[in-house]
Amino acid sequence: MTQESPALYVVPTPLGNLGDMTQRAIDILRSVSWVAAEDTRHSAPLLKHIGSNARLLAAHQHNEASAAQQVIDRLAGGESVALISDAGTPAVSDPGARLVADVRAAGYRVVPLPGPCAAVTALSASGLSEAHFLFYGFLPSRGKQREEALRDLAGLPYALVFYEAPHRILETVAALATVFGAERTLVMARELTKLFETIHACPLGEALAWLEADANRQRGEFVLMVSGATVAGDDGEGERVLKLLLEEGLPVKQAAKLAHAITGVAKNALYEQALALKNAQSC
Ligand code: SAM
Repeated sequence: MTQESPALYVVPTPLGNLGDMTQRAIDILRSVSWVAAEDTRHSAPLLKHIGSNARLLAAHQHNEASAAQQVIDRLAGGESVALISDAGTPAVSDPGARLVADVRAAGYRVVPLPGPCAAVTALSASGLSEAHFLFYGFLPSRGKQREEALRDLAGLPYALVFYEAPHRILETVAALATVFGAERTLVMARELTKLFETIHACPLGEALAWLEADANRQRGEFVLMVSGATVAGDDGEGERVLKLLLEEGLPVKQAAKLAHAITGVAKNALYEQALALKNAQSC
């Protein structure tokens, strides 16, 4: 591997299955002098397993500024550094963003590697077909703030993706059902890539009973995905009318305005849809 100048490599690590280390991740972790890790004790066995002799330095949420300075000092000395977290992709609901920003601000290369990420892994098997998804990560842990956060998301027509720990799974699923209603689909992806991997989809109104029916279903790490809100009043009629108007050559804004007047579907939603249709037409 050639390395023109020292760099900070952002390296995803397995969610549970060591076979998910990419060859490039292994090569980088073997070639760098230093690895900045969220938990050095946790990561030492992984480095040993892949035959990396890199030295470890701690980079967690309580020391990101000083860890960034240590990384910058190594880079200034001509040594490359890899950043890893306990599992998955650093800086995605994990420490790392501050360190990356500081390293970039100091003028050094930051090189991201693709690899395991719980959100993307779960989404790929969710069967949710929304064109867009919103990654939220962890909800607030307190009930009132959690419900407020959920209320802000309730009207969005995107698949919503949350991270949750086992000790909060029941209360979070209950809150999802309360705020989003019983009808929307919840997909629960638990223990991904591990022995007890489970992916279960059901209406939100049935989710709590499903979890409570077997304590094992509440164990492990979770990704929770909820289908997007349906646009009020849209049974496909809005799109049908929009298509006709666009085919007649009407500009996007006017087509959305007229389709709203004809069908009663929300104007903003129709405008977004018209833009998407127009883009699809020009492809
Ligand atoms: N940066 C990591 C990523 O993007 O994959 C996520 C780190 S975050 C601190 C940990 C959360 O990720 C867990 O609470 C859980 O929601 C999710 N997670 C991690 N590993 C998982 C797994 N094997 N199965 C399901 N969810 C997982």
